[in-house]
Amino acid sequence: MNPFDDELQRRLAALREQNLFRELRRVDSAQGPHLRINGETFLNFSSNDYLGLANHPALKEAAIKAVEKFGAGAGAARLVSGSLAPFHELEEKLAAFKQTGAALTFSTGYAAAIGTITSLVGKDDVIILDKLVHACIVDAAKLSGAKLRVFDHNDLVDLEKILIWADEKKRGAQTSTRTLIVTESIFSMDGDAAPLREIVALKDKYGAWLMVDEAHATGIIGQNGRGLADELGVGRRIEIQMGTLGKALGASGGYICGSRALIDYLINRARSFIFSTAPVPAAAAAAIAGIHLVESAEGKARRKSLFSRVEALNLKLKIKNSKLPSAIIPLILGDETAALTAASQLRAQHIFVPAIRYPTVARGAARLRITLTAEHTADDVATLCAALPALNA
Ligand SMILES: *Cc1c(COP(=O)(O)O)cnc(C)c1O
Repeated sequence: MNPFDDELQRRLAALREQNLFRELRRVDSAQGPHLRINGETFLNFSSNDYLGLANHPALKEAAIKAVEKFGAGAGAARLVSGSLAPFHELEEKLAAFKQTGAALTFSTGYAAAIGTITSLVGKDDVIILDKLVHACIVDAAKLSGAKLRVFDHNDLVDLEKILIWADEKKRGAQTSTRTLIVTESIFSMDGDAAPLREIVALKDKYGAWLMVDEAHATGIIGQNGRGLADELGVGRRIEIQMGTLGKALGASGGYICGSRALIDYLINRARSFIFSTAPVPAAAAAAIAGIHLVESAEGKARRKSLFSRVEALNLKLKIKNSKLPSAIIPLILGDETAALTAASQLRAQHIFVPAIRYPTVARGAARLRITLTAEHTADDVATLCAALPALNA
């Protein structure tokens, strides 16, 4: 082997030793409650396709029609070769759905976070993150060069302490400095909710900006699935609302919703938007169909079915419903090996639940991350519950 590969093999061996090595599992079926892996069928509790739209006939048909009319590829970045109609239609739809002045879509949620945060704040500014925000927000914050501060998860006292510090820093500064707070609404690995009303009150008190990532709330939480900000009545007071089209909306891509000024600014400044080929038009068409569905009676029925499965599982696991229920139910096992063993024991029973380890969660906070979807039946949940106690046997 050559020295380059030797070096990488050594690094991989270190990951294996710590039980942190990861590999891809090839799936030969569409996304849904059942997956075909190596010729066997598994009951799937790993998907973020919470409403079961990824393989829905309406989304597939919309994507096929878009391919027929607009082709397979977009040809160039949207500022270069013209901006295909499906993206505009999608952005109008998103702005209406989120009740904001405008919207902009990106190739992924990851790209949306990177482009937006790095264009809004720089080295003279302060960015304040909840300790558990998604990796794309952490990466964006680092890349922005802004002074990075982290508050304990959902801890308003800690957040205010940092805001006071940032305020004092601002007073002493020559240049005008901005403070941006970023949080999620429903957290991706814990499924709990941020106290958005209180965070909005704090950011107003200290003149900070607020960005909320609704990746795990859009489509499933609140009236018509508009998300937690809307549900709590604070949507209009949040400067930047972000999310993905790839989870409950069943398609692919990321979005930012906010004022017309914000969107015009991002079109001019967000490098992950400017310097990247537009997504395939079929993805935009599928996302439009996804939002239509989420807002329809069928969407409402799917949310109802999802939350009745969530309630059944929470009841079995004796998880108190004091918190807002979400589709994400973590079973925290702590040790990386314990999480891997649990996941492989479930796989032996043809149940697919991912073991989530560092660096997705903190070291020693490894877990099984169970996600439910509207497509799961009551029997599916019963099968999972019957398999789970075996973990402790
Ligand atoms: C999945 C996710 C993203 C990234 O969205 P993609 O469209 O998958 O790139 C961003 N934020 C959170 C909280 C997520 O869970």
